[in-house]
Amino acid sequence: MLRAELPESSIGFFLHTPFPSYEIYRLLPDRKEVVAGLIGADLVGFHTYDYARHFLSGVLRTLGYDNKLSSIIVGDRLVRADVFPIGIDYEKFATAAKSANVKSEILALKKHFNDQKIVLSVDRLDYSKGILERLEAFDYFLEKNPRWHKKIVLVVVAVPSRITVGAYQQMRDDIERAVSRVNGTYSTVDWSPISYQYKNLPFDELVALYCRADVALVTPLRDGMNLVAKEYIASKQSRNGVLIISEMAGVADELPEATKVNPNDRAGIVRALENALKMTPTEQRRRLTTMQNRLSHYTVERWAEDFIEQLSYANEQRSAHDLNFLTSPVMDEIVKKYKGATKRLLMLDYDGTLTGFVSDIRPISSRPTSKLMRILKKLSHTPGNEVMIVSGRPKRALESWFSKLPVSLVAEHGAWIKDHGKWTPRSEFPADWKEPILPLLEAITERTPGALIENKNFSLVWHYRNVNPELAYVRKANLKHDVEKKLRDSDIEVFQGNKILEFKPRFITKGATVKQKLSEGAFDFILAIGDDYTDEDMFAALPVGAYTIKVGIGSSIARYHLSSVEQVHAFIAKLAASVD
Ligand code: UDP
Repeated sequence: MLRAELPESSIGFFLHTPFPSYEIYRLLPDRKEVVAGLIGADLVGFHTYDYARHFLSGVLRTLGYDNKLSSIIVGDRLVRADVFPIGIDYEKFATAAKSANVKSEILALKKHFNDQKIVLSVDRLDYSKGILERLEAFDYFLEKNPRWHKKIVLVVVAVPSRITVGAYQQMRDDIERAVSRVNGTYSTVDWSPISYQYKNLPFDELVALYCRADVALVTPLRDGMNLVAKEYIASKQSRNGVLIISEMAGVADELPEATKVNPNDRAGIVRALENALKMTPTEQRRRLTTMQNRLSHYTVERWAEDFIEQLSYANEQRSAHDLNFLTSPVMDEIVKKYKGATKRLLMLDYDGTLTGFVSDIRPISSRPTSKLMRILKKLSHTPGNEVMIVSGRPKRALESWFSKLPVSLVAEHGAWIKDHGKWTPRSEFPADWKEPILPLLEAITERTPGALIENKNFSLVWHYRNVNPELAYVRKANLKHDVEKKLRDSDIEVFQGNKILEFKPRFITKGATVKQKLSEGAFDFILAIGDDYTDEDMFAALPVGAYTIKVGIGSSIARYHLSSVEQVHAFIAKLAASVD
């Protein structure tokens, strides 16, 4: 909505929670709308590479946009997904740890807890934090380790959150019941294993707890990042203490020195706690120093700067792509040249240029619209014009659409040419070249749902537009490899097109057709428009003064770009209307 309202603005979006894998994401009824909205941004940021990967796969699976090195092309825009693990105000925690206020809080804690080991649990009271599971794990620890009774205490700070929501009130009740149950089971007159507070702690008290805690037990079931873990590390200027972190928290990627646990594995948490209590001071120091070093560099300020820098970089990339877009002044210049010319050659690719891609390859689904037919009629009836539809489609499809127009037709990328009403093959080719490879295509198509084979006179096409993209990626590579092995030293080549693999004789190209056409006569205005690899041959074969236009923003040798089929229609309609 922002992009539609402010098309030229620079938009960055940062997601502070995890982005789910497609298996989960697909359950969302509005899954298309959500990702379509997100790709309105120029830069979409995540805490971890996994979230970025899930987002890119969500975009591919729901909207069909593929990515190259985490960049997606959406119309004439480039959208980047990248990773920016949010940091903390490191200095604030590191210096607070040495302040007089915190020191006196630490002293109070020491007085209260004496020499007991403190295991710290700090979170917002939220279902994602795994507080109940943590309490159950601590219960199991106490059951397994009677020798630790009276020598250890779990300090639980549950910060009130979403208190008006019924489910959160219920969760609070469940947690408090679990605390009472454990305390009821193990407490003695002079010892309670769990110290519980349901409140938002003042900063000094929180830092004092971080400083004094021997172990921080941070076991969320899912967490975008988890700042508590980072704050604990920053506050540990005394360099003694152990961080146990859930592998489901984004922070786990950044802190490989921490002890990782699966928050659903009660026995695993207990083992981690037992090991943490045994860890030598030297080892604790080594791990903390390494983690502190890292966190003190990528702070929250650095995170913000980095995001803004990358956003400006994304915009630079966008404007670099804008450079050779067909702008209105250039368009006017081309129209002027067109009007002034007497012998014009207009070469237009069909799929992806004059019409959009559809999942059904049958000609009936890609019929030219009546609006397009009107434009082509005008262009082809304009004196001095020669219009060629240069397509990869078989001749019967082109014939069924354009037989009533005075246009030349090129079918199967140049294998067949219809000039002056007659179809001629460009060259003879042994009919049996398909025999060795057709069975390979058939075998792979059978076990690839959605794939299909198109058998043209001079080529075989394997379509995978409707195949699960990840499966298509693997199958395409296998098929390419198998066919190339079979066809070694032959004149057949494998071409990668828009969601297709095409197998065809090497010498049949749109470029060869163009050369033949140019040898037949002179033109004072040449225009070629196309969208894929086969059109690059056509562009390359044209003389320097020709106007070549690529549809889309992929790399091309064309002089200009247009971003969509609609823009092509508008442009050729303008040309058509310029001459009466
Ligand atoms: N925090 C707080 N009051 C407290 C205890 C903690 O405001 O009594 C802060 C803590 O310092 C941290 C934040 O709450 O900065 C929790 O952030 P985290 O990323 O760990 O979890 P989130 O709440 O964002 O899911």
